[in-house]
Amino acid sequence: MAEAKITKRSEDYSRWYTDVIAAAELADYAPVKGCMIIRPNGYAIWEKMQQALDGMFKETGHQNAYFPLFIPESFLQKEAEHVEGFAPEVAVVTHAGGSKLEEPLIIRPTSETIIWNTYRNWIQSYRDLPLLINQWCNVVRWEMRTRLFLRTTEFLWQEGHTAHATYEDAEEEALRMLGVYRRFAEEYIAVPVIEGIKTDSEKFAGAHHTYSIEALMGDGKALQAGTSHHLAQNFAKAFDVTFQTETGRREYVYATSWGLTTRMIGALIMTHGDDNGIVIPPKLATIQVVVVPIFRKPEERERVMQAVDKFTAGFKAAGIGFKVDARDQYSPGYKFNDWEKHGVPLRIEVGPKDLDKNQVVLARRDNGQKTPASQDGLDRTVREMLETIQKSLFDRAVEFREKHSYRIDDYSKFNEILDGEGGFLWSHWCGSGECEERIKDETKATIRNIPNESKPEEGKCIKCGTPSRRRVIFARAY
Ligand SMILES: [Zn+2]
Repeated sequence: MAEAKITKRSEDYSRWYTDVIAAAELADYAPVKGCMIIRPNGYAIWEKMQQALDGMFKETGHQNAYFPLFIPESFLQKEAEHVEGFAPEVAVVTHAGGSKLEEPLIIRPTSETIIWNTYRNWIQSYRDLPLLINQWCNVVRWEMRTRLFLRTTEFLWQEGHTAHATYEDAEEEALRMLGVYRRFAEEYIAVPVIEGIKTDSEKFAGAHHTYSIEALMGDGKALQAGTSHHLAQNFAKAFDVTFQTETGRREYVYATSWGLTTRMIGALIMTHGDDNGIVIPPKLATIQVVVVPIFRKPEERERVMQAVDKFTAGFKAAGIGFKVDARDQYSPGYKFNDWEKHGVPLRIEVGPKDLDKNQVVLARRDNGQKTPASQDGLDRTVREMLETIQKSLFDRAVEFREKHSYRIDDYSKFNEILDGEGGFLWSHWCGSGECEERIKDETKATIRNIPNESKPEEGKCIKCGTPSRRRVIFARAY
């Protein structure tokens, strides 16, 4: 195994990020620029994310389906804003099977068009609504500047596409799924997020309005962690999807779509990682506990392994994900370091001296704390410890975000903070696209969202001084 050195986070955040991914063997660059190879350790995190989210989707009444990767180019043209937004990043297939295609095919950048073309046949009456479908798949968006997990040309995601009888039903769904994303981000990834609505310039191409959850990363930049769109009747009109109401009228269907991607692995790294590498929240760790037996002589080995076998049988019964690292060719010190780089939340050290005291030593990945624990009832102790780690990762992230959130009423402070430690700037905004654009040009900060939790408050637009009723969040973003 190659010794991977991790650049200090404070020294060069961007190199640190890349080093952490390499050290934990999460992903590799691919031969095609901007693409990414997700290695088993990275994919294991994605699988855990999928399981958790998929369960929540099904609990809220959704079913999975699968639609094709290729979409006739003409479909994209049908919704004006949609084509304008996506055309620049679409990959097009012009040749296949040795000849030029009659109609070029686009590789899906998102699936609204092909799905709404299909829904036309599936939806006839109000009895067919709501239609609640999700798909797990890959999409392709030709990006110029890419970074592993955060922005890649091809990425994995889920996309929900639902159809409803009324505007209100669709609104309820869009907010429900935003809530699901929030719960998922906070309870599983231990990343606190702010729910809110996007400004018109930042909404999804083709949406009536877009909601997002926004998180603050360790370098003070924001990350859009998930989006939920109310599409109103835009796609139903573009694809002529109507239904017969209870009173016998024909009406266009209302829609939502919502997506969350593999960039959440990037969010996980940038929220919890430290100079020793990634820290995986216990709920997303396949290996939650690594056991490192310590011994010199063969008879010690036998005694230690006996104890290990006994308490790991308890782990197995309790559903705790564990691994015993009994590799002979590596020292305990090497192993500690190795598992730290791989982000395993909890390590158990056990040697002959511990056996004499009927104990083991627990070492937490999140804060380095070491505590002895009795071998009796160790599965319960470990389970509680994992819960504590999960919670303290979240609490620490909340604390970091609060420390880097500012109420700013003086525009001259903007760049000062953004060029320094960065963070969320809660400021007044008049609602004009012009002010938004100028602030973006001058500071590279965008309005992340207009938070649902932002209370009415009289103020003046940070840029033009026009009266404003509430604060929005500005930040530089990934
Ligand atoms: Zn203004």
